[in-house]
Amino acid sequence: MQTEMLIGSSFEAGSEAEETIFNPRTGETLLHLPEASPAQIERAVASARKAFLAWSRTTPAERSAYLLKIADRIEAEADAFAALEALNCGKPINRVREDEIPAIVDCYRFFAGAVRCVPGAAAGEYLTGFTSMTRRDAIGVVASIAPWNYPLMMMAWKLAPAIGGGNTVVFKPSEQTPLTALKMARILAEVLPEGVVNVVLGRGETVGNALINHADIDMISITGDVATGKKVLQAAAKSVKRTHLELGGKAPVIVFDDADLDAVVSGLRTFGYYNAGQDCTAACRIYAGPKIYDNLVADLSSAVSTIRYGLEDDTQNEIGPLISRRQRDRVASFVERASQMNHMEITTGGRTGEGGGYFFQPTVIAGAMQTDEIVCREVFGPVVSVTRFDDVDEAVSWANDSVYGLASSIWTKDVSRAMATASRLQYGCTWINTHFMLTNEMPHGGLKQSGYGKDMSLYALEDYTAVRHVMIAH
Ligand code: NAD
Repeated sequence: MQTEMLIGSSFEAGSEAEETIFNPRTGETLLHLPEASPAQIERAVASARKAFLAWSRTTPAERSAYLLKIADRIEAEADAFAALEALNCGKPINRVREDEIPAIVDCYRFFAGAVRCVPGAAAGEYLTGFTSMTRRDAIGVVASIAPWNYPLMMMAWKLAPAIGGGNTVVFKPSEQTPLTALKMARILAEVLPEGVVNVVLGRGETVGNALINHADIDMISITGDVATGKKVLQAAAKSVKRTHLELGGKAPVIVFDDADLDAVVSGLRTFGYYNAGQDCTAACRIYAGPKIYDNLVADLSSAVSTIRYGLEDDTQNEIGPLISRRQRDRVASFVERASQMNHMEITTGGRTGEGGGYFFQPTVIAGAMQTDEIVCREVFGPVVSVTRFDDVDEAVSWANDSVYGLASSIWTKDVSRAMATASRLQYGCTWINTHFMLTNEMPHGGLKQSGYGKDMSLYALEDYTAVRHVMIAH
Protein backbone atom coordinates (compact mmCIF):
# COMPACT_ATOMS: atom_id res chain seq x y z
CA MET A 1 0.00 0.00 0.00
CA GLN A 2 1.38 3.44 -0.96
CA THR A 3 1.37 5.86 1.95
CA GLU A 4 3.55 8.73 0.75
CA MET A 5 2.56 12.06 -0.73
CA LEU A 6 3.97 13.29 -4.06
CA ILE A 7 5.76 16.64 -3.98
CA GLY A 8 7.54 17.39 -7.23
CA SER A 9 9.36 14.12 -7.84
CA SER A 10 9.77 13.28 -4.18
CA PHE A 11 7.70 10.76 -2.24
CA GLU A 12 7.46 11.69 1.39
CA ALA A 13 5.36 11.18 4.48
CA GLY A 14 3.63 14.14 6.05
CA SER A 15 5.16 15.42 9.26
CA GLU A 16 2.13 16.83 11.08
CA ALA A 17 -0.83 15.32 12.96
CA GLU A 18 -1.86 11.77 12.04
CA GLU A 19 -5.27 10.94 10.62
CA THR A 20 -6.66 7.47 11.29
CA ILE A 21 -7.96 5.65 8.24
CA PHE A 22 -10.70 3.13 9.03
CA ASN A 23 -12.21 0.12 7.30
CA PRO A 24 -15.90 1.14 7.24
CA ARG A 25 -17.03 -2.49 6.85
CA THR A 26 -15.55 -3.46 10.21
CA GLY A 27 -14.73 -0.23 12.02
CA GLU A 28 -11.13 -1.42 12.34
CA THR A 29 -8.16 0.87 11.92
CA LEU A 30 -6.33 0.41 8.63
CA LEU A 31 -3.45 2.81 9.19
CA HIS A 32 -2.45 6.26 10.37
CA LEU A 33 -1.31 8.88 7.89
CA PRO A 34 0.38 12.11 8.96
CA GLU A 35 -0.70 15.25 7.15
CA ALA A 36 1.46 17.67 5.15
CA SER A 37 3.39 20.36 7.00
CA PRO A 38 3.18 24.02 5.94
CA ALA A 39 6.66 23.64 4.39
CA GLN A 40 5.54 20.60 2.40
CA ILE A 41 2.46 22.48 1.13
CA GLU A 42 4.77 25.34 0.08
CA ARG A 43 7.00 22.96 -1.85
CA ALA A 44 4.02 21.29 -3.52
CA VAL A 45 2.66 24.65 -4.73
CA ALA A 46 6.14 25.78 -5.81
CA SER A 47 6.69 22.58 -7.74
CA ALA A 48 3.33 22.97 -9.54
CA ARG A 49 4.23 26.59 -10.33
CA LYS A 50 7.61 25.59 -11.73
CA ALA A 51 6.09 22.81 -13.84
CA PHE A 52 3.42 25.13 -15.23
CA LEU A 53 5.88 27.00 -17.47
CA ALA A 54 6.74 24.00 -19.62
CA TRP A 55 3.47 22.05 -19.19
CA SER A 56 1.25 24.92 -20.33
CA ARG A 57 3.35 25.10 -23.51
CA THR A 58 2.92 21.45 -24.47
CA THR A 59 0.66 20.79 -27.44
CA PRO A 60 -2.81 19.35 -27.00
CA ALA A 61 -1.59 16.19 -28.75
CA GLU A 62 1.20 15.79 -26.20
CA ARG A 63 -1.14 16.25 -23.25
CA SER A 64 -3.60 13.89 -24.87
CA ALA A 65 -0.92 11.20 -25.04
CA TYR A 66 -0.19 11.63 -21.33
CA LEU A 67 -3.90 11.30 -20.46
CA LEU A 68 -4.16 8.13 -22.53
CA LYS A 69 -1.16 6.67 -20.69
CA ILE A 70 -2.79 7.44 -17.33
CA ALA A 71 -6.01 5.74 -18.49
CA ASP A 72 -4.08 2.66 -19.62
CA ARG A 73 -2.24 2.42 -16.31
CA ILE A 74 -5.46 2.57 -14.29
CA GLU A 75 -7.04 -0.01 -16.55
CA ALA A 76 -4.03 -2.30 -16.20
CA GLU A 77 -4.30 -2.09 -12.42
CA ALA A 78 -8.10 -2.04 -12.27
CA ASP A 79 -8.38 -4.90 -9.79
CA ALA A 80 -5.86 -3.38 -7.38
CA PHE A 81 -7.53 0.02 -7.56
CA ALA A 82 -10.95 -1.56 -7.03
CA ALA A 83 -9.73 -3.53 -4.01
CA LEU A 84 -8.16 -0.45 -2.45
CA GLU A 85 -11.22 1.75 -3.01
CA ALA A 86 -13.48 -0.99 -1.62
CA LEU A 87 -11.26 -1.31 1.44
CA ASN A 88 -11.08 2.41 2.19
CA CYS A 89 -14.73 3.28 1.41
CA GLY A 90 -16.50 0.00 2.21
CA LYS A 91 -17.95 -0.08 -1.31
CA PRO A 92 -18.91 -3.51 -2.69
CA ILE A 93 -15.92 -4.53 -4.81
CA ASN A 94 -18.00 -5.40 -7.88
CA ARG A 95 -19.56 -1.95 -7.93
CA VAL A 96 -16.12 -0.31 -7.99
CA ARG A 97 -14.71 -2.72 -10.55
CA GLU A 98 -17.70 -2.79 -12.89
CA ASP A 99 -19.20 0.69 -12.48
CA GLU A 100 -16.54 3.12 -11.27
CA ILE A 101 -13.24 1.97 -12.81
CA PRO A 102 -14.49 1.85 -16.43
CA ALA A 103 -16.03 5.33 -16.03
CA ILE A 104 -12.77 6.64 -14.52
CA VAL A 105 -10.66 5.21 -17.34
CA ASP A 106 -13.12 6.64 -19.86
CA CYS A 107 -12.90 10.06 -18.21
CA TYR A 108 -9.16 10.32 -18.96
CA ARG A 109 -9.76 9.00 -22.49
CA PHE A 110 -12.60 11.42 -23.11
CA PHE A 111 -10.45 14.41 -22.15
CA ALA A 112 -7.55 13.02 -24.19
CA GLY A 113 -9.81 13.48 -27.21
CA ALA A 114 -11.53 16.64 -26.06
CA VAL A 115 -8.33 18.67 -25.57
CA ARG A 116 -7.56 18.20 -29.26
CA CYS A 117 -10.81 19.70 -30.53
CA VAL A 118 -11.72 22.65 -28.32
CA PRO A 119 -14.48 24.70 -29.99
CA GLY A 120 -14.69 28.50 -30.02
CA ALA A 121 -15.71 31.57 -32.03
CA ALA A 122 -14.32 31.60 -35.58
CA ALA A 123 -11.38 33.88 -36.32
CA GLY A 124 -12.34 36.68 -38.68
CA GLU A 125 -12.42 40.37 -39.56
CA TYR A 126 -15.13 41.53 -37.17
CA LEU A 127 -13.75 45.09 -37.48
CA THR A 128 -12.55 46.16 -40.92
CA GLY A 129 -8.77 46.08 -41.00
CA PHE A 130 -8.40 43.79 -37.98
CA THR A 131 -8.35 40.03 -37.57
CA SER A 132 -9.63 38.62 -34.30
CA MET A 133 -9.25 35.14 -32.87
CA THR A 134 -10.04 33.45 -29.60
CA ARG A 135 -7.71 31.25 -27.63
CA ARG A 136 -8.29 28.94 -24.68
CA ASP A 137 -5.29 29.03 -22.39
CA ALA A 138 -4.41 27.37 -19.12
CA ILE A 139 -5.25 29.21 -15.92
CA GLY A 140 -2.23 28.24 -13.81
CA VAL A 141 -1.91 26.21 -10.63
CA VAL A 142 -5.14 24.55 -9.50
CA ALA A 143 -5.78 23.42 -5.93
CA SER A 144 -8.07 20.40 -6.34
CA ILE A 145 -9.86 19.17 -3.24
CA ALA A 146 -11.95 16.00 -3.30
CA PRO A 147 -14.65 14.41 -1.11
CA TRP A 148 -14.82 10.85 0.25
CA ASN A 149 -17.76 9.35 -1.62
CA TYR A 150 -16.01 8.56 -4.95
CA PRO A 151 -12.32 9.26 -4.27
CA LEU A 152 -10.72 7.95 -7.47
CA MET A 153 -13.54 9.17 -9.69
CA MET A 154 -13.49 12.68 -8.22
CA MET A 155 -9.73 12.71 -8.77
CA ALA A 156 -10.31 11.82 -12.44
CA TRP A 157 -13.03 14.43 -12.86
CA LYS A 158 -10.66 17.06 -11.46
CA LEU A 159 -7.31 16.05 -12.90
CA ALA A 160 -8.22 15.13 -16.48
CA PRO A 161 -9.69 18.50 -17.59
CA ALA A 162 -7.21 20.48 -15.45
CA ILE A 163 -4.00 18.96 -16.79
CA GLY A 164 -5.60 18.42 -20.19
CA GLY A 165 -6.18 22.16 -20.31
CA GLY A 166 -2.50 22.84 -19.55
CA ASN A 167 -2.76 23.58 -15.82
CA THR A 168 -0.72 22.03 -13.05
CA VAL A 169 -2.32 20.74 -9.87
CA VAL A 170 -1.90 20.32 -6.15
CA PHE A 171 -4.42 17.62 -5.29
CA LYS A 172 -5.76 16.92 -1.80
CA PRO A 173 -7.92 13.82 -1.33
CA SER A 174 -10.39 13.62 1.53
CA GLU A 175 -8.55 12.88 4.76
CA GLN A 176 -10.87 9.88 5.17
CA THR A 177 -10.21 8.25 1.79
CA PRO A 178 -6.68 8.98 0.53
CA LEU A 179 -5.56 5.46 -0.42
CA THR A 180 -6.35 5.36 -4.15
CA ALA A 181 -4.98 8.90 -4.59
CA LEU A 182 -1.70 7.75 -3.05
CA LYS A 183 -1.58 4.80 -5.45
CA MET A 184 -2.34 7.19 -8.32
CA ALA A 185 0.55 9.41 -7.17
CA ARG A 186 3.02 6.65 -8.08
CA ILE A 187 1.55 6.32 -11.56
CA LEU A 188 1.38 10.06 -12.11
CA ALA A 189 5.05 10.42 -11.08
CA GLU A 190 6.05 7.79 -13.63
CA VAL A 191 3.89 9.11 -16.48
CA LEU A 192 3.91 12.90 -16.12
CA PRO A 193 6.74 15.45 -16.03
CA GLU A 194 7.80 16.43 -12.51
CA GLY A 195 5.44 18.76 -10.66
CA VAL A 196 2.46 18.59 -13.04
CA VAL A 197 0.45 16.85 -10.31
CA ASN A 198 1.36 16.93 -6.63
CA VAL A 199 -0.62 15.03 -4.00
CA VAL A 200 -0.74 16.25 -0.41
CA LEU A 201 -2.58 14.75 2.55
CA GLY A 202 -4.46 16.47 5.30
CA ARG A 203 -7.64 17.74 6.84
CA GLY A 204 -9.76 20.52 5.41
CA GLU A 205 -9.24 23.04 8.17
CA THR A 206 -5.46 22.70 8.01
CA VAL A 207 -4.05 21.59 4.63
CA GLY A 208 -7.20 22.43 2.63
CA ASN A 209 -7.39 25.84 4.25
CA ALA A 210 -3.71 26.52 3.50
CA LEU A 211 -4.25 25.63 -0.16
CA ILE A 212 -7.36 27.73 -0.74
CA ASN A 213 -5.69 30.75 0.89
CA HIS A 214 -2.35 30.33 -0.88
CA ALA A 215 -1.28 33.36 -2.88
CA ASP A 216 0.27 31.25 -5.63
CA ILE A 217 -2.86 29.18 -6.32
CA ASP A 218 -4.80 30.52 -9.32
CA MET A 219 -7.91 28.35 -9.15
CA ILE A 220 -9.67 26.25 -6.52
CA SER A 221 -11.70 23.22 -7.54
CA ILE A 222 -13.66 21.61 -4.75
CA THR A 223 -16.33 18.95 -4.42
CA GLY A 224 -17.84 18.87 -0.99
CA ASP A 225 -20.33 20.33 1.40
CA VAL A 226 -22.06 23.67 0.78
CA ALA A 227 -20.46 25.07 3.96
CA THR A 228 -17.02 24.16 2.60
CA GLY A 229 -17.87 25.80 -0.73
CA LYS A 230 -18.72 29.03 1.08
CA LYS A 231 -15.34 28.97 2.83
CA VAL A 232 -13.67 28.52 -0.55
CA LEU A 233 -15.52 31.55 -1.90
CA GLN A 234 -14.42 33.67 1.05
CA ALA A 235 -10.80 32.59 0.60
CA ALA A 236 -10.97 33.11 -3.16
CA ALA A 237 -12.34 36.63 -2.76
CA LYS A 238 -9.08 37.84 -1.22
CA SER A 239 -7.11 37.43 -4.44
CA VAL A 240 -10.02 36.85 -6.88
CA LYS A 241 -9.13 33.25 -7.62
CA ARG A 242 -11.24 31.27 -10.03
CA THR A 243 -13.44 28.70 -8.33
CA HIS A 244 -15.06 25.49 -9.49
CA LEU A 245 -17.67 24.36 -6.96
CA GLU A 246 -19.52 21.04 -6.90
CA LEU A 247 -21.50 21.03 -3.68
CA GLY A 248 -24.36 19.03 -2.22
CA GLY A 249 -27.72 17.90 -3.57
CA LYS A 250 -31.17 16.65 -2.60
CA ALA A 251 -32.58 15.21 -5.80
CA PRO A 252 -36.37 15.37 -6.27
CA VAL A 253 -38.03 12.50 -8.12
CA ILE A 254 -41.48 13.27 -9.56
CA VAL A 255 -43.54 10.13 -10.19
CA PHE A 256 -46.74 10.78 -12.15
CA ASP A 257 -49.74 8.47 -11.87
CA ASP A 258 -49.18 7.03 -15.34
CA ALA A 259 -45.56 5.98 -14.63
CA ASP A 260 -44.48 2.36 -15.07
CA LEU A 261 -44.59 1.34 -11.40
CA ASP A 262 -42.19 -1.60 -11.78
CA ALA A 263 -39.65 0.60 -13.54
CA VAL A 264 -39.97 3.30 -10.87
CA VAL A 265 -39.54 0.81 -8.03
CA SER A 266 -36.58 -0.89 -9.66
CA GLY A 267 -35.01 2.50 -10.48
CA LEU A 268 -35.46 3.87 -6.97
CA ARG A 269 -34.19 0.66 -5.37
CA THR A 270 -30.97 1.15 -7.33
CA PHE A 271 -30.57 4.92 -7.63
CA GLY A 272 -31.84 5.89 -4.17
CA TYR A 273 -29.43 3.54 -2.39
CA TYR A 274 -26.37 3.28 -4.64
CA ASN A 275 -23.16 3.87 -2.64
CA ALA A 276 -25.38 3.66 0.47
CA GLY A 277 -27.02 6.92 -0.63
CA GLN A 278 -23.74 8.82 -0.24
CA ASP A 279 -24.23 10.49 -3.56
CA CYS A 280 -25.14 14.09 -4.26
CA THR A 281 -27.53 12.93 -7.02
CA ALA A 282 -29.17 10.11 -5.00
CA ALA A 283 -32.90 9.71 -5.77
CA CYS A 284 -33.88 10.51 -2.21
CA ARG A 285 -36.86 12.90 -2.30
CA ILE A 286 -39.83 11.22 -3.97
CA TYR A 287 -43.00 13.09 -4.93
CA ALA A 288 -45.69 10.61 -5.98
CA GLY A 289 -49.01 11.33 -7.71
CA PRO A 290 -52.24 10.67 -5.73
CA LYS A 291 -53.18 7.47 -7.57
CA ILE A 292 -49.75 5.80 -7.63
CA TYR A 293 -48.67 6.82 -4.11
CA ASP A 294 -49.99 3.83 -2.11
CA ASN A 295 -48.71 1.18 -4.50
CA LEU A 296 -45.39 2.95 -4.82
CA VAL A 297 -44.86 3.05 -1.05
CA ALA A 298 -45.84 -0.62 -0.68
CA ASP A 299 -43.77 -1.96 -3.59
CA LEU A 300 -40.75 0.27 -2.90
CA SER A 301 -40.69 -0.75 0.76
CA SER A 302 -40.75 -4.42 -0.06
CA ALA A 303 -38.10 -4.00 -2.82
CA VAL A 304 -35.81 -1.98 -0.56
CA SER A 305 -36.10 -4.57 2.21
CA THR A 306 -34.31 -7.02 -0.15
CA ILE A 307 -31.21 -4.85 -0.75
CA ARG A 308 -28.19 -6.96 0.18
CA TYR A 309 -25.54 -5.47 2.43
CA GLY A 310 -23.12 -6.49 5.15
CA LEU A 311 -22.68 -10.04 3.78
CA GLU A 312 -19.39 -11.83 4.40
CA ASP A 313 -19.04 -12.55 0.66
CA ASP A 314 -18.65 -9.00 -0.61
CA THR A 315 -19.39 -9.99 -4.20
CA GLN A 316 -23.01 -10.50 -3.05
CA ASN A 317 -23.39 -7.04 -1.52
CA GLU A 318 -25.34 -4.36 -3.34
CA ILE A 319 -24.44 -1.51 -1.01
CA GLY A 320 -21.81 -0.92 1.64
CA PRO A 321 -21.68 0.87 4.97
CA LEU A 322 -21.52 4.62 5.53
CA ILE A 323 -18.04 6.11 5.38
CA SER A 324 -17.63 6.70 9.13
CA ARG A 325 -19.25 6.20 12.50
CA ARG A 326 -19.99 9.92 12.52
CA GLN A 327 -21.80 9.77 9.18
CA ARG A 328 -23.72 6.66 10.27
CA ASP A 329 -24.82 8.37 13.50
CA ARG A 330 -25.80 11.48 11.56
CA VAL A 331 -28.04 9.42 9.25
CA ALA A 332 -29.51 7.61 12.28
CA SER A 333 -30.35 10.91 13.96
CA PHE A 334 -32.25 12.15 10.86
CA VAL A 335 -34.29 8.94 10.83
CA GLU A 336 -34.86 9.06 14.60
CA ARG A 337 -36.23 12.61 14.40
CA ALA A 338 -38.48 11.65 11.47
CA SER A 339 -39.79 8.62 13.38
CA GLN A 340 -40.92 10.88 16.21
CA MET A 341 -43.35 12.74 13.91
CA ASN A 342 -46.77 11.10 13.83
CA HIS A 343 -47.49 11.80 10.17
CA MET A 344 -44.46 9.86 8.95
CA GLU A 345 -44.04 6.09 8.86
CA ILE A 346 -40.84 4.12 8.45
CA THR A 347 -42.05 1.38 6.15
CA THR A 348 -38.75 -0.49 5.98
CA GLY A 349 -35.33 -0.20 7.63
CA GLY A 350 -34.76 2.65 10.07
CA ARG A 351 -32.03 1.16 12.23
CA THR A 352 -28.29 1.01 12.54
CA GLY A 353 -26.82 -2.27 11.27
CA GLU A 354 -25.31 -4.93 13.52
CA GLY A 355 -21.59 -5.33 14.23
CA GLY A 356 -18.67 -2.93 14.19
CA GLY A 357 -19.13 -1.67 10.62
CA TYR A 358 -20.87 1.61 9.88
CA PHE A 359 -23.99 0.08 8.31
CA PHE A 360 -27.45 1.59 8.25
CA GLN A 361 -30.49 -0.32 7.03
CA PRO A 362 -31.88 0.81 3.66
CA THR A 363 -34.86 2.90 4.74
CA VAL A 364 -38.11 4.22 3.27
CA ILE A 365 -40.02 6.99 5.06
CA ALA A 366 -43.60 7.44 3.84
CA GLY A 367 -45.99 10.32 4.51
CA ALA A 368 -43.26 12.98 4.57
CA MET A 369 -44.35 16.59 4.10
CA GLN A 370 -42.56 19.32 2.19
CA THR A 371 -41.47 21.16 5.32
CA ASP A 372 -40.06 18.07 7.07
CA GLU A 373 -36.34 18.04 7.74
CA ILE A 374 -36.02 14.66 6.00
CA VAL A 375 -37.36 16.27 2.80
CA CYS A 376 -35.32 19.48 2.99
CA ARG A 377 -31.88 18.44 4.20
CA GLU A 378 -29.19 16.33 2.57
CA VAL A 379 -29.03 13.07 4.57
CA PHE A 380 -26.30 11.40 2.48
CA GLY A 381 -27.35 7.91 3.55
CA PRO A 382 -29.60 5.03 2.42
CA VAL A 383 -32.81 6.88 3.25
CA VAL A 384 -35.59 7.84 0.83
CA SER A 385 -38.68 9.89 1.71
CA VAL A 386 -42.00 9.71 -0.16
CA THR A 387 -44.44 12.63 -0.32
CA ARG A 388 -47.88 12.64 -2.00
CA PHE A 389 -48.70 15.48 -4.42
CA ASP A 390 -52.04 16.54 -5.86
CA ASP A 391 -51.13 18.13 -9.18
CA VAL A 392 -48.16 18.94 -11.40
CA ASP A 393 -47.88 22.53 -10.18
CA GLU A 394 -47.56 21.35 -6.61
CA ALA A 395 -44.96 18.73 -7.59
CA VAL A 396 -42.87 21.25 -9.53
CA SER A 397 -43.02 23.92 -6.84
CA TRP A 398 -42.03 21.42 -4.12
CA ALA A 399 -39.25 19.99 -6.29
CA ASN A 400 -37.83 23.49 -6.88
CA ASP A 401 -38.32 24.53 -3.26
CA SER A 402 -34.75 23.65 -2.26
CA VAL A 403 -31.43 25.40 -1.71
CA TYR A 404 -29.93 22.67 -3.90
CA GLY A 405 -30.11 22.37 -7.67
CA LEU A 406 -28.01 19.44 -8.80
CA ALA A 407 -30.13 16.55 -10.07
CA SER A 408 -33.78 15.56 -10.52
CA SER A 409 -35.91 13.02 -12.35
CA ILE A 410 -39.40 12.65 -13.81
CA TRP A 411 -41.22 9.36 -14.31
CA THR A 412 -44.17 9.21 -16.73
CA LYS A 413 -45.23 7.49 -19.97
CA ASP A 414 -46.36 10.83 -21.41
CA VAL A 415 -43.46 12.41 -23.35
CA SER A 416 -45.14 15.82 -23.53
CA ARG A 417 -45.69 15.92 -19.79
CA ALA A 418 -42.10 14.83 -19.22
CA MET A 419 -40.66 17.56 -21.44
CA ALA A 420 -42.98 20.27 -20.12
CA THR A 421 -42.12 19.37 -16.53
CA ALA A 422 -38.38 19.11 -17.23
CA SER A 423 -38.40 22.64 -18.63
CA ARG A 424 -39.75 23.94 -15.30
CA LEU A 425 -37.20 22.28 -13.02
CA GLN A 426 -34.24 24.26 -11.69
CA TYR A 427 -31.66 21.48 -11.68
CA GLY A 428 -28.35 20.94 -13.48
CA CYS A 429 -29.67 17.58 -14.65
CA THR A 430 -33.14 16.13 -15.18
CA TRP A 431 -33.49 12.46 -16.08
CA ILE A 432 -36.69 11.10 -17.58
CA ASN A 433 -37.68 7.54 -16.65
CA THR A 434 -34.24 6.98 -15.20
CA HIS A 435 -31.98 8.63 -12.65
CA PHE A 436 -28.29 8.85 -11.81
CA MET A 437 -26.86 7.87 -15.21
CA LEU A 438 -23.79 9.89 -16.19
CA THR A 439 -21.63 9.91 -19.30
CA ASN A 440 -18.32 11.68 -19.83
CA GLU A 441 -19.61 13.57 -22.89
CA MET A 442 -22.33 15.31 -20.86
CA PRO A 443 -21.89 17.96 -18.15
CA HIS A 444 -22.47 17.28 -14.47
CA GLY A 445 -22.97 20.24 -12.17
CA GLY A 446 -25.50 22.25 -10.29
CA LEU A 447 -27.51 25.40 -9.86
CA LYS A 448 -28.16 27.38 -6.66
CA GLN A 449 -26.13 26.20 -3.64
CA SER A 450 -25.15 23.00 -5.41
CA GLY A 451 -22.46 25.16 -7.01
CA TYR A 452 -21.65 26.06 -10.59
CA GLY A 453 -18.63 24.07 -11.72
CA LYS A 454 -19.21 21.59 -14.51
CA ASP A 455 -17.46 18.23 -14.37
CA MET A 456 -17.00 15.96 -17.39
CA SER A 457 -17.74 17.13 -20.96
CA LEU A 458 -16.28 20.04 -22.92
CA TYR A 459 -17.83 22.37 -20.35
CA ALA A 460 -15.31 21.15 -17.76
CA LEU A 461 -12.50 21.94 -20.18
CA GLU A 462 -13.98 25.42 -20.52
CA ASP A 463 -14.05 25.79 -16.73
CA TYR A 464 -10.36 24.87 -16.46
CA THR A 465 -9.21 27.23 -19.23
CA ALA A 466 -9.47 30.97 -19.83
CA VAL A 467 -10.91 32.30 -23.08
CA ARG A 468 -8.79 35.08 -24.55
CA HIS A 469 -9.13 37.44 -27.53
CA VAL A 470 -6.13 38.18 -29.75
CA MET A 471 -6.54 40.95 -32.36
CA ILE A 472 -4.19 41.85 -35.18
CA ALA A 473 -4.24 45.20 -37.03
CA HIS A 474 -3.61 44.67 -40.75
P1 NAD B 1 -16.51 18.21 2.91
O1 NAD B 1 -16.91 19.55 2.40
O2 NAD B 1 -16.47 18.00 4.37
O3 NAD B 1 -15.06 17.85 2.41
C1 NAD B 1 -14.73 17.87 1.02
C2 NAD B 1 -13.26 18.18 0.89
O4 NAD B 1 -13.05 19.52 1.32
C3 NAD B 1 -12.36 17.30 1.78
O5 NAD B 1 -11.17 17.01 1.08
C4 NAD B 1 -12.07 18.20 2.96
O6 NAD B 1 -10.85 17.91 3.59
C5 NAD B 1 -12.03 19.57 2.29
N1 NAD B 1 -12.30 20.69 3.19
C6 NAD B 1 -13.13 20.72 4.25
N2 NAD B 1 -13.07 21.93 4.85
C7 NAD B 1 -12.19 22.68 4.15
C8 NAD B 1 -11.70 24.01 4.26
N3 NAD B 1 -12.09 24.82 5.25
N4 NAD B 1 -10.81 24.44 3.36
C9 NAD B 1 -10.40 23.64 2.36
N5 NAD B 1 -10.81 22.37 2.20
C10 NAD B 1 -11.71 21.90 3.08
O7 NAD B 1 -17.43 17.17 2.18
P2 NAD B 1 -17.40 15.59 2.33
O8 NAD B 1 -18.07 15.31 3.63
O9 NAD B 1 -16.05 15.02 2.08
O10 NAD B 1 -18.29 15.13 1.10
C11 NAD B 1 -19.67 15.10 1.15
C12 NAD B 1 -20.25 16.32 0.47
O11 NAD B 1 -19.77 16.42 -0.88
C13 NAD B 1 -21.73 16.22 0.37
O12 NAD B 1 -22.33 17.43 0.74
C14 NAD B 1 -21.97 15.94 -1.10
O13 NAD B 1 -23.21 16.32 -1.57
C15 NAD B 1 -20.86 16.64 -1.74
N6 NAD B 1 -20.59 16.07 -3.06
C16 NAD B 1 -20.94 16.78 -4.18
C17 NAD B 1 -20.70 16.26 -5.43
C18 NAD B 1 -21.09 17.02 -6.67
O14 NAD B 1 -20.74 16.60 -7.75
N7 NAD B 1 -21.81 18.11 -6.56
C19 NAD B 1 -20.08 15.03 -5.57
C20 NAD B 1 -19.73 14.34 -4.42
C21 NAD B 1 -19.99 14.89 -3.17
